[in-house]
Amino acid sequence: MNPIPFNRPTIVGNELAHIQEAISRGNISGDGHFTRECCALLERRFGIHKVLLTTSCTSALELIAWLYELGPGQEVIMPSYTFVSTANAFLRTGAIPRFVDIDPETLNLDPAAVADAVNENTAAICAVHYAGVGADMDALLALGARHKLRVLEDAAQGVHAWYRGRALGSIAPLAAYSFHATKNYTCGEGGALCINDDELALRAEILREKGTNRTQFIRGEVDKYTWVDVGSSYVPSELTSAFLFGQLERMDEIDERRREIYDTYTTGLEPLAAAGHLRLPVVPTDRVVNHHMFYVLTRDAGTRNALMDHLREEQIQATFHYLPLHTSPMGQQLGYRDGQFPVTEDLSARLLRLPFFHELLESDQQRVIKAVRRFFRD
Ligand SMILES: *Cc1c(COP(=O)(O)O)cnc(C)c1O
Repeated sequence: MNPIPFNRPTIVGNELAHIQEAISRGNISGDGHFTRECCALLERRFGIHKVLLTTSCTSALELIAWLYELGPGQEVIMPSYTFVSTANAFLRTGAIPRFVDIDPETLNLDPAAVADAVNENTAAICAVHYAGVGADMDALLALGARHKLRVLEDAAQGVHAWYRGRALGSIAPLAAYSFHATKNYTCGEGGALCINDDELALRAEILREKGTNRTQFIRGEVDKYTWVDVGSSYVPSELTSAFLFGQLERMDEIDERRREIYDTYTTGLEPLAAAGHLRLPVVPTDRVVNHHMFYVLTRDAGTRNALMDHLREEQIQATFHYLPLHTSPMGQQLGYRDGQFPVTEDLSARLLRLPFFHELLESDQQRVIKAVRRFFRD
């Protein structure tokens, strides 16, 4: 029996040919032909004012903390159920991650919990679109407007997903995408800063390009480039962008394959859901998912762990997801304690993600479904 991995990066088209072309064009540093092609494609497809490719989603989040000038004493409301980068980006500039509990249906920020957490130190709200299902952005933007807070989207998992007709990443003034190897469209390590407020665009270009106005220089807007602000290096190489463009130009094909995998899991596991063994992912009717992952929720933590062990014995790699940040050593150091966010703790202990990648064979996926059904003797 062949092992079935949880994830596997895939070449879907012209990635290698594009890398070769980047080399022939004579420029493999940043912001050349392929970087521009990727940005233009993302802007056009998702209605984002300006996209700047970065070296990761983490670095795009760092740019956001910088652009929003979030500093010491200021609180950023975010879910505890997220990746460490969401919190790290703001800790770096001295701001405080203010964790709140999640909505049990979507596993995204619960607007009621956000409203409860707002105080005189609150400066921003960071939505995370878990599993490519949009957070309730209208409610979060309304809260932001009422309390004069910055709003941002950690849309790492949200590329090519929609909320009430708007693409994730195009809704808040600033948002971050990830092109990490575990995401739908990838170049190994990579990301993007999505800018929907033009007033933030110029400074974003400068911070990303070592504090210089080189990006304006490339556009021909200034006749030499110079040091104008503090900055750092968040520019990916053309080799990375060339690879990424090979995936982005096949976006619809990749999405279609992921939809098939998602629907096959749904159909195969629905009987277990009907029998009360599992809960399957919920996508509210006003949202379109990008089929980033497929998870199941078992009745209790013991069952989740036993199911994971059972699958491992069948050579199938299924994995749990975030350990709530507030229960981590760093979270405890920030003053949080176990038991503080019951929905987060409960769901994260019961969640299991099944193998999901572009080249997952139909026969292997059926093996996964049968193994899960066998576990429940269905
Ligand atoms: C993957 C992920 C990140 C980090 O992305 P990188 O590109 O690896 O920096 C941040 N936030 C969330 C929610 C993620 O899923």
